Amino acid sequence: MSDNQDPCLFCQIVAGDLPAEIVGQTERSVAFKDIAPQAPMHLLVVPREHFGDIAQLAAADPALLADMIELADNLAGENADGQFRLVFNSGPRAGQSVFHVHGHVIGGAELGWTPA
Ligand code: 5GP
Ligand code: ZN
Repeated sequence: MSDNQDPCLFCQIVAGDLPAEIVGQTERSVAFKDIAPQAPMHLLVVPREHFGDIAQLAAADPALLADMIELADNLAGENADGQFRLVFNSGPRAGQSVFHVHGHVIGGAELGWTPA
């Protein structure tokens, strides 16, 4: 996967070197508000450790992926009605622009379904 964003934007947010509106965290994952929200709730959940995309993360550490999903579920309960869409864009043609794996946690409204 192409990954030439050095230093990595989300590693810097996790480290506290760049500001973000942190909304939740676990020992292994951090969640913050997307800077350009596409829904009333639009959060990003990321692992503290750097992986390029969801396939790399799942292959290396499935428990960490489960940790991110549990955090997303908890935050959807705190920030919306508990229902959410979890999107992992994987690759530039799928819309990935930051190459530190992140799940978009989207909700707080009736969501349409037109991915293409
Ligand atoms: P992708 O396009 O890789 O699936 O998602 C990247 C997301 O990161 C986008 O929704 C974009 O709005 C968000 N984003 C990009 N830069 C920043 C930033 O500096 N801070 C925050 N909070 N979100 C960002
Ligand atoms: Zn990173």
